[in-house]
Amino acid sequence: MKTSTIVAATVGTIAVATIGYAIYFDQKRRNDPDFRRKLKKEKKRALKQQKEEEKKKVTKTAKTVEEALASIKEDEFPTSMEAREKFCMEQLSTGEAHFTRGPEGYDTAAICFYKALKVYPAPAELVMVYQKTIPPEVFTLVMGMLSMDVHKKQEKYYTIFPPKEMNVKVDELPEGITAEGQKVVRRGLFVTKDFAAGETIYSETPIISSLEPSLEGKEFCHYCLKQIAAEDRVRCATCSKVVYCSETCQKTATTEFHAVLCTKDSEDASTPERALYDYTKETNNKYPEMIAKFLVRMVHEETLNSGEEYNLFDHIERLRFLEVRPSAAEEKEISLLKVALGSKIPGIEEFINEERYLTLKGKLLYNAYGISTSLDADRSVEPSPEQYRSVHDAPVVGAGFYRVTSYVSHSCDPNAKIVFLEHNNNMSVVASKDIKAGEELHVGFIDQKNGTLSTEQRRQELFQHYRFKCMCPLCESSQ
Ligand SMILES: [Zn+2]
Ligand SMILES: [Zn+2]
Ligand SMILES: [Zn+2]
Repeated sequence: MKTSTIVAATVGTIAVATIGYAIYFDQKRRNDPDFRRKLKKEKKRALKQQKEEEKKKVTKTAKTVEEALASIKEDEFPTSMEAREKFCMEQLSTGEAHFTRGPEGYDTAAICFYKALKVYPAPAELVMVYQKTIPPEVFTLVMGMLSMDVHKKQEKYYTIFPPKEMNVKVDELPEGITAEGQKVVRRGLFVTKDFAAGETIYSETPIISSLEPSLEGKEFCHYCLKQIAAEDRVRCATCSKVVYCSETCQKTATTEFHAVLCTKDSEDASTPERALYDYTKETNNKYPEMIAKFLVRMVHEETLNSGEEYNLFDHIERLRFLEVRPSAAEEKEISLLKVALGSKIPGIEEFINEERYLTLKGKLLYNAYGISTSLDADRSVEPSPEQYRSVHDAPVVGAGFYRVTSYVSHSCDPNAKIVFLEHNNNMSVVASKDIKAGEELHVGFIDQKNGTLSTEQRRQELFQHYRFKCMCPLCESSQ
């Protein structure tokens, strides 16, 4: 069970095979004449008891929650879809049997309901069902377990992410003190072993990436951004707006987001997918489309409930972002996204509120990297007005949002560079100097025009785009 799953679950689910057990309690109420009576009686009793025990409850709950969580082992949870469904049903009915026994069965009941939540594909819906059907004390216990679990998971995140084999870790560094005397920290990425100049430290594929709108549908892959020879182009089965480098990219893109966003070549130019596509082309802005792709991919991932400990939302919620002030453009983008996704993903309209949209956009603006995959070094690409970390000599054909490399900080005299060795969106971070284990990685966020920019100019540009004053050794030494 994940914090972000709860958030994401307000999005609802795309058709899932497991939808059947959402109505478990309803069926139970209809088919079992005793159930209603028992429940009513139980609720009445619980309410009375709740008042009497209000004082001791808080400490007792915390202790019970702690013990209950400790009694659950990760390997208890099945992995296959059918097994998870069966497991969930068992937990629901066992939990119910326990709470109908009365207060002595509450702790065990809570554990069962909590376990059912862990495997249920739309946890937020199940929480709502619980709220209406199980005794308040059991509900409090379940929610207590959930929040403690979430808290533990938050703390654990940086101990398992990034994965060890990437040779880097995220650490906190002091970054001065606020006017109120509070410590400010920033996160950076540190290597865990020595690297010689020229060595690749790690590679990663983006959460989401997009081509510059002017390149879409021609000679670059819609999914991996690779340049494709005319004879190798794979088309979308339902639209002529995008092309792929391979069947694999076509299939993956379709599953992850394109099935929802495809314009489907309809005669009707007023479809919502078409409106989003046209907006992207007209404004030459790709971030609204990237946010749409991200949301669809997130919902897709949620419905899989693959057992992955951290989902897309967990990964991005910790990243820095630029504050974006709402303007008419963002208002328009929000409404385009709501309409384009709304009919296919129940609940997404409520999910895409102004705050969430602006935060997502701010995360893209702060963290996205330009991607260079063009085989033609002199290619001129119509520049998009949206910023990205520009660390390339080669022409940029799109932008990507990366889980790990987002943590790399800027320096005007960096020790690493971004390279696209396979000429697709798979990014490699390569040492440009010798780096010792424990040192922080730095890349340059801005184009320094071959070192011709003065400290003042660099600082100004960085402040304008990323809103920080560069304190790198190069800037500090030229003071
Ligand atoms: Zn591709
Ligand atoms: Zn299509
Ligand atoms: Zn600097």
